Amino acid sequence: MSLSKTPVGRLAPSPTGAQHVGNARTYLLAWLSIRSRGGRVILRIEDLDSPRVKAWAVQQAIDDLKWLGLDWDEGPNQPGCEISYQQTERICLYRSAFDQLRISERVYCCTCSRSDVLAAASAPHASQEGPTYPGTCAHRTAADAETLAGQSFCWRFRMSDKNWLLTDAVAGTRNCDVNSELGDFVIAKADGTPSYQLAVVVDDHLMGVTEVLRGDDLISSAFRQLELYDFFGWEAPQFAHVPLVVGPDGRRLAKRHGDTRISVLRDAGVPSANLVGVLAHSCGLRRTPAAVTPQELLADFSLERLPRTPFVFTDDTWKQLLKV
Ligand code: GLU
Repeated sequence: MSLSKTPVGRLAPSPTGAQHVGNARTYLLAWLSIRSRGGRVILRIEDLDSPRVKAWAVQQAIDDLKWLGLDWDEGPNQPGCEISYQQTERICLYRSAFDQLRISERVYCCTCSRSDVLAAASAPHASQEGPTYPGTCAHRTAADAETLAGQSFCWRFRMSDKNWLLTDAVAGTRNCDVNSELGDFVIAKADGTPSYQLAVVVDDHLMGVTEVLRGDDLISSAFRQLELYDFFGWEAPQFAHVPLVVGPDGRRLAKRHGDTRISVLRDAGVPSANLVGVLAHSCGLRRTPAAVTPQELLADFSLERLPRTPFVFTDDTWKQLLKV
């Protein structure tokens, strides 16, 4: 990444449900990392997983982000923005990228698993990573699509035999032999409707994103995405995978740990600065969890201060949050 480029980052909520405290922490860090360097922030709605997307969740995510005190330069309904920032309205862009993959035989038709196909529309958070695909249909070519008409199939991306080195701004140096460790992955449905992996790479490239900051359960996706950047000859963004928020049992923060929906805190009258204060403290940006705004965190922000272990959300965290 060239140093002279204006940093461009994105907030990319999936409206498959409500946004939680864990999402809030990632959005806050993504925003701080870019804004503290005078960069541009994009809001993109990742709504491809049509069976799981909830109509109300788009506006709620926008309201949550605004309530947190985050802003963006480009996004849905933003004055002066002529392109769409909602993935379901960008399908033709993904289709033309897919056509390049098909013409180059980097994809093949696969009749194996329907569950893989259903899962592919969303980002595969760690627990949703399926087993490595054994390559059963890898002998097929793209042209086989014609002979499969009427059968259900999907398109898989053919991994290279590369061993990728990822220099992550938070997670450090990681490497991955993509073929043996991850295997060929679903890239589109039979009709060319894209998977999360294809859509996110096309969008990040076309939107000029220079930094992708997200939860560290998506690190394996970064390696899949590096394969796509390499195929298209596009420059990959700087990746920054941040530790997740977990409950006292060490599992990803979820309903069993209490209701941490941002909208619920908001409706209960919790000041957003309380939440930002708790999150800033958890990120090593403040010595105490006292209330603070995102703006106030900009001056001395650095990703280097971020602890490299998950943030454990405990009963004490609840008390700090609810303190008025
Ligand atoms: N929309 C994805 C999610 O909320 C984020 C994926 C990404 O940042 O690449 O899980």
